[in-house]
Parts: sequence; structure tokens; C-alpha cells
Amino acid sequence: MLQREKLESLLAVNLYKGINPKSWHGAARAILEDEFIPKNRPLKAIWDPQEEDYKIDSSMREGRPHTSPDGQCAICLGNTTAILMENGTTDTPFINLNLFPMRYPEGTLVETYKGFKAPVDYIVGGSFLQWHTTEHKEIHQLTYEQYLNNLLQLAEFENCLGERIDFNGLSYQAFVDIFKNVGKNAGRSIPHGHHQFQFSNIRSPKIRRDIESLLDAGEAFIDYTENINKNLKVLEYDRAIAYSLYKSSVPFEIVVSPKQSVERIKDMDNDTLRDLAMAIVDVSRGLYHLMPEERLNFAYNACFHTGLGIGKMYVRFKPKSQIYAGSEELDVHILQKSPQTCADMFRQKLPLIKGMHPDEYKLEPEMA
Ligand SMILES: [Zn+2]
Repeated sequence: MLQREKLESLLAVNLYKGINPKSWHGAARAILEDEFIPKNRPLKAIWDPQEEDYKIDSSMREGRPHTSPDGQCAICLGNTTAILMENGTTDTPFINLNLFPMRYPEGTLVETYKGFKAPVDYIVGGSFLQWHTTEHKEIHQLTYEQYLNNLLQLAEFENCLGERIDFNGLSYQAFVDIFKNVGKNAGRSIPHGHHQFQFSNIRSPKIRRDIESLLDAGEAFIDYTENINKNLKVLEYDRAIAYSLYKSSVPFEIVVSPKQSVERIKDMDNDTLRDLAMAIVDVSRGLYHLMPEERLNFAYNACFHTGLGIGKMYVRFKPKSQIYAGSEELDVHILQKSPQTCADMFRQKLPLIKGMHPDEYKLEPEMA
């Protein structure tokens, strides 16, 4: 656990420098004045007109610390960057700077070839981390209240950063990407649970495709698939719902969404956030039980699909439940377990999920 004293000292780093980190301008200054982050900045980006996505060269990330030399958690030891935000409680979630950023305030040049035009000439922004709590825990080990505190803090942080980013005399609309990696097989580098938070002038291609499909169909995909989803429901609260995804590309792919058509975390009322938090914790616990029983390592990515124009935000859980083979590389997905079977299996786990105390969950479940 990160001790309060150490947390306070990490929080004070910005105060010494006269930085108000609760704004994009202040957060950017904190990144640029950090001792190490400027050395780890992304080097360049390439716009791929065939895939319509970005390939960011961030070679320094190869040197990321996976564990401290003595095997102890670097975050619990307080060997981390300055803290921008915390809420004063003993088990507070807290936001700090990503030591190996994917977005950078001084801009990363986007290279293009053959006259193809990228959406932006420079990717500008910042990479942040939100640690779920000072305790050494992942989402499935948190109480609903603790995870709700995470969502409330994310909403506050989004509000503080604002809607625009200025760079090179231009003013860009700002976009937010939030995702997380649980389990080594899903790209987790530090086992102290956290969300990654990217603030920048680029809209991630998957979010752009959400918006395009909404424009084609006239409504968000979670809404226009309502009839299919009825049979695929895995759990429901008054204001949030979770489905086994009808177009899953791997087994146990699950989407969680508010019932109300809200597009960003900061636009949600507290009751909706509470129900969303409970559904996210439950889904994580469901995967904790189901994956080892299927002889799979517990590992998933969860991506928040949010932003203006998306129609209705959702969180997409993609477990590492099936290897991508050649067919999948060609974007033809051969699914080894149907979404209906996965929904049925998940629902059977609900009494167990509801019956267990958060403290009974370990960081890594054992294989059955
Ligand atoms: Zn830790």
C-alpha cells in the first residue's frame, strides 16, 4: 500500500514548482518539467492510409520497469511520478503522469507518404495513469464504492483538462481515451491496478468507427441491437446494463453501458455512475471466475468508448480468451464459443459474484 506520507510528498512536487495540475496547461507543464518523461517522449507517428490508423514510434517504452529490482511494487514504494489528483481518503484513487507517454505536449510529428493526408499534422496531448487505490488491488478486488470513486475522479479530471488543446497556433478539439490492461497476457506491466488516460487532439480510429456506424444506422449500436441483446444480457442495474457482445471476436467479450444516452463520463449523473461502476466490477469478477475454469489465464483489456458524437458510451471488455490465428489476422473471426453460451455461463456465475466479499479475490486467480 502507498503510505499517505509518500502520497503527500508526490502531490507536493507540483506545488514546489507553482504548478496547478488541475488544468491542461498545468498538467502539460508538469509533464515537460518532469526529470524523466521528456527523455521517454514518443519519437514520431506514421499515418497508415490503408488501415486508417496511427503507428506511434515510442521505442523507449521497451525499457519500461516491469517490476522493481527487488520484486516489490514500484507504486506501493512511491517510486513514481508527481501526483496531479487524489481525494484525501485513506484508500484514494490517484492520478499521476505516465513515465512512458503515448501523447506529448510538444507534439509528435505525423509522417504521411504518397500525398495521403492524416487527420492531424502533430499528435499533441498527455498520457496519465489513474491508480484505482493506494492499496495493491485490481478492479475485481475493489468494493463498488472504491470503483465509483475512480469514475468520479475521472469525470473531475476530464472537466479540469477542458475541451481544447492549442498547439502551433492552432486550436484542436480534445479527445479522451481510457483503457486498462489486466493480466500479463493483456499487456499489464505493473500489477498495481490502474486505468490509462490519454488526452489529445486525435480521435482513436475505433471511436471514429463507432461514430460512423452511428451515422449509418441512425442510432448507437447498443441501441439498434437491442432485440438481439435481450437474450445476451449478463447483468442489469437500474441505470446500467451488460451484454455478451453479439458480434464478439473472442469468447466472453462483454459490453457495459449506461441505459441513458450519455457520451462521456463527465456527462453522467452520480446514480448512473454508481450503477455503471457496479456493472464494471461485476464483469471483471465474472471473468475472474470464468477464464481459469476454461483453462485460460485471467487477462483482459477494457476500453472506454466515449466522446462527443458516439451516441451512447460503453465499456468493451475483451478477454485474452482466444489466440488470433491467420484467419483473424485477415479479419475473419472464427469464434470457439458463441456469445449466447458465454452469456449463459456468465449468468450462472452471478450468485457466486454477489456472494463473495471483495477481500476474497486475489490479484491472479488459480487455474481450475
Ligand atoms: Zn502496489
